[in-house]
Amino acid sequence: MKKKGILFILSAPSGSGKTTLCTRLVESVDSLYRSISMTTRPPRPGEKDGMDYIFIEKPEFLKRQKRKEFLEWAKVFGEHYGTPKKHILHMLKRGSDVLLSIDVQGAMKIRRLKLGAVYIFILPSSLAMLKERLINRSTDSKEAILQRLNIARKEIACSQKYDYIIVNNRLESALDNLRAIIIAERCRVKRN
Ligand code: 5GP
Repeated sequence: MKKKGILFILSAPSGSGKTTLCTRLVESVDSLYRSISMTTRPPRPGEKDGMDYIFIEKPEFLKRQKRKEFLEWAKVFGEHYGTPKKHILHMLKRGSDVLLSIDVQGAMKIRRLKLGAVYIFILPSSLAMLKERLINRSTDSKEAILQRLNIARKEIACSQKYDYIIVNNRLESALDNLRAIIIAERCRVKRN
C-alpha cells in the first residue's frame, strides 16, 4: 500500500533564521516539498513572486479565503498569509512530504485538522539575539521591530505545544537537528 506523505510544520519568531533553515533543509533532504504561501504583504527587497511567497492583493486573498482555498490562514503583523490547500493535499496523497513554514496561529489551526502533522519550533538563542538580527536585517521600522519582539515572546510561550524544539544557536547544528527529525519521522511505524 502506498504511504501518505508527512506534513512538517515549522514555526519560529520573526528574525530567528527560519527562512534560511527552510531553504537549506529543502536543498539537502530528498523529496521534501516546501509549500509557498500566499500573502498580502508587499515583497521585501530580493524576494521573488512565486519563490518566497505568492504576493496577491487583499481583495484577491479574501476571495480565495471565501472559496475555502486555504488549508489555514492567519493575520500576522496586519497582513494576511495563507497556505494553498489543493496542491498540498495532492502532494501528501501521492506520498510526498510537505514543509509548511507558518506562524503559531496557523500551526494551531492545522492541528485541529488532524492531519497527523509533525510540529517543530525554532527558538532563537535569546531575545537579545533576536532583536539584534531584526535590527541588522534593516527591513523593519523601530515600531515594527518592537511589535515583532512582543509577538515573539507570545509565540515562544506556545513552543511547548510543538513536538520538537530546536535552538538556533548555530545554523549547521540546527540544520542537523532538523534533518534528524525528518529522517526519524520517515522511519516511524505509527502516526497519530
Ligand atoms: P514574514 O512576513 O516575516 O515573511 O512572515 C511573518 C510570519 O508569517 C512568519 O511567522 C511566517 O512563518 C508566517 N507565515 C508565512 N506564511 C504563512 C502562512 O501561509 N500561514 C500562516 N499562518 N503564517 C504564515
